[in-house]
Amino acid sequence: MSARAKEEPVAKRPPSVDAVMRTTVAMAAAAQYGRPIVVEAVRQTIAAARASGAPTEPERLAAIATERVAINSQLNLRPVFNLTGTVLHTNLGRALIAEEAIEAAVAAMRSAVALEFDVDSGRRGERDDHLRGLLRELTGAEDATVVNNNAAAVLLALNTFAGARDAIVSRGELIEIGGAFRMPDIMARAGAALIEVGTTNRTHPKDYISAISERTGLILKVHTSNYRIEGFTTEVPARDLAKIAVKHRVTLMNDLGSGTLIDLRRLGLAPEPTVAEAVAEGADLVTFSGDKLLGGPQAGFIVGRKDLIERINRNPMKRALRVDKIRLAALEATLKLYRDPDRLSQRLPTMRLLARPKADIAALAARIAPAVGKSVGDRFIVEVVECASQIGSGALPVDSAPSAGLRIAPASKAGGRALDAVSAAFRRLPIPVIGRIEKSALVFDLRCLEDEAGFTANLASIDIKEPRDALA
Ligand SMILES: *Cc1c(COP(=O)(O)O)cnc(C)c1O
Repeated sequence: MSARAKEEPVAKRPPSVDAVMRTTVAMAAAAQYGRPIVVEAVRQTIAAARASGAPTEPERLAAIATERVAINSQLNLRPVFNLTGTVLHTNLGRALIAEEAIEAAVAAMRSAVALEFDVDSGRRGERDDHLRGLLRELTGAEDATVVNNNAAAVLLALNTFAGARDAIVSRGELIEIGGAFRMPDIMARAGAALIEVGTTNRTHPKDYISAISERTGLILKVHTSNYRIEGFTTEVPARDLAKIAVKHRVTLMNDLGSGTLIDLRRLGLAPEPTVAEAVAEGADLVTFSGDKLLGGPQAGFIVGRKDLIERINRNPMKRALRVDKIRLAALEATLKLYRDPDRLSQRLPTMRLLARPKADIAALAARIAPAVGKSVGDRFIVEVVECASQIGSGALPVDSAPSAGLRIAPASKAGGRALDAVSAAFRRLPIPVIGRIEKSALVFDLRCLEDEAGFTANLASIDIKEPRDALA
């Protein structure tokens, strides 16, 4: 070993870890990221240099190791530009939270809060108390409870009322929401026996009535928000179902999914049933999400009859599905914004983005097109195009909002690999830019782009790694 070492030219032997750690670059990195991970990265870099015969100057090795540490310490869950055209994109985290809610959440994170403590009386309070009053006010329901998400709300309510009993559902409403949320599976896990009634396209009152027995725990109505059957169809409206439920003394639950608290026509969108309407139609319980149209953090609400909500709260499952102080704080602040509906579309990002006029978006597209064109170079053609945004998260699947954006297409005909390369380059930016591929082009719908300066600054570091043969 020592004989062999002597034969090697001295300059080619990698320096010791200590020698690299003594460089200015490594010392600065240790101060920023902590010594142990920098030492480990230096060790790995030295080993790689030894194996490959790469340059071995301490400064060079320190720089490589520092870059490694910097990449590793980047947060994996980090902001992206959602230019997919889907405002409530489940894979991109759905609703953006209002500033008021962010502030409330940050305050709750930094400090002890009166989560289950009644400050007035000095006695124990209830977690749900912070939202109960607001939810009653906004939905007209007698009582309310909140859990982790709407899937949890459905699971909990089904388990409470139809555990070891029957739950009656129309075959036209046995939906899959995505992410493995299938109504029949949730019902099975809740311990409910699923009684399917009617057919895929038509369900009549008599179908429900003949399925009701002493084993019935619940009639479940599901708002089939993520698809629409057209043509020869009939469903039993919630109002009629409520009459059947009252007459036969069974509980009726309406799962609205993306329940909205306001009339969407105010924003120029197609109407969705509001939670207040579902309550007024006579459902005993109504479930809906916090991070869909409502525009808050992930949560699931159950509102409805007081005696039923009390039973839900006594179910031990509630404890496993409850939400933490951070989300409760954000939810309370979000719901408070609904007390002032006139300013809602300014303060609530979801509403602001959904209501954003097309002309506004088109003007933005025209402004940033040159910068985007410059960043991708002349091998791509960038043009301003009209497009149609989706709400997302299963709300109003067939309706879309007219929007505008940029279309980036390879200049050469056989540009498939160039298209992959340019999409990947946008995703590799410090703030990844996520668009959608449509007809051999990368399309950026700009409805959700509000930080124009941040977007153009981000473009500076674009690096399109194109395979040479795709450049023809
Ligand atoms: C989205 C949706 C759910 C699930 O809600 P999450 O908040 O995503 O858990 C349940 N039911 C319906 C009808 C939905 O649209």
